[in-house]
Amino acid sequence: MTSLCIVYDDIFMKHNPDPYHPEGPQRLAEVIEELSRRGVLAKVKVERAVKASLNDVTRVHYENYVEYIQRAVASGARYIDPDTQISRESFEVALYAAGSSIYGCEKVLDKGFDVCFVLERPPGHHAGRAGAALGAPTLGFCLFNNVAIAAKHLIEVRGLKRVAIFDFDCHHGNGTQEIFYRDRSVLYISTHQDGRTAYPGTGFVNEVGEGEGEGYNINVPLPPFTGDDVYGEVLEKVVERVLREYKPEVLLLSAGFDAHKDDPLTSMGLSLNSYVKIAELVKGLIDKGMTRGAVFVLEGGYGPGLARGIYNIIAYFIGMPLIEESKTTSSERVKREGLKVVDEVYEKVLKPYWGIEAC
Ligand SMILES: [Zn+2]
Repeated sequence: MTSLCIVYDDIFMKHNPDPYHPEGPQRLAEVIEELSRRGVLAKVKVERAVKASLNDVTRVHYENYVEYIQRAVASGARYIDPDTQISRESFEVALYAAGSSIYGCEKVLDKGFDVCFVLERPPGHHAGRAGAALGAPTLGFCLFNNVAIAAKHLIEVRGLKRVAIFDFDCHHGNGTQEIFYRDRSVLYISTHQDGRTAYPGTGFVNEVGEGEGEGYNINVPLPPFTGDDVYGEVLEKVVERVLREYKPEVLLLSAGFDAHKDDPLTSMGLSLNSYVKIAELVKGLIDKGMTRGAVFVLEGGYGPGLARGIYNIIAYFIGMPLIEESKTTSSERVKREGLKVVDEVYEKVLKPYWGIEAC
């Protein structure tokens, strides 16, 4: 069994966009409901949120961007951009989301937990140094890049040399990619719906990093309606092989659940089985001593895959019964396109930069 804790706090309900907005407090309410109903909260230690300092946040974001968010919230504005809403307490809540991601890392490094799941909002992976990243039209519901702030803390404050971020949200983490593009101490791997068919329109295979970071940015853009079959191959052939090679001291996961087949905002085809497969991969790395532990940092997820996907990951780690759902199979065309992307990742990244040959 894997030791696991959760970081959650009611403060995260106070970032409160208009009721019709998909990234609302109801998301976390559903997650907590699911975890409580299935008995997880009685079994797992739940830690309160911790607030980030401005210093923590400005390791990633420009000071004037942080001030801009603070001013916008203080002015009573409801929007930063057409996608991204704010409310009276959003600045404060965003600091707690960032601080809790750091706190999750400390649970793994100092408190002996193998895994920590940080159930926070607003999400973060679209936020770049100065806001919207890589030409994206909006911040995509994000204010501060929680996972990036945690990674920077691990490198700059805790002195780690190798941190990996595996981002399985349906959308490309353009903010995270931008922040670590020239940095090899943070390996970024993202699986997402092809940017030609989804926000934010980036995340192609040839975006491999630059300078010191060349080869340490790995994108796997998948065709719409990709099912568990192809996704399983991506996990085994790309994500797992690279992580075993890199051996991150801590593995961070940008944990979005919007690639689930029933998500209303996207067009992917994963079932809950793919989330269990991710948990298996993480457990394998921990059990083999290839990483000290893993911190899941919540990103998106707007449908029934969110609460049930999170439950299944936690249940897998702590040995509780999984929610069953039929495995999904990609159509022949999607399978062909998806496997072509895997070939391209080998050709353009894994072979030249990692010496990993196709298998
Ligand atoms: Zn997303």
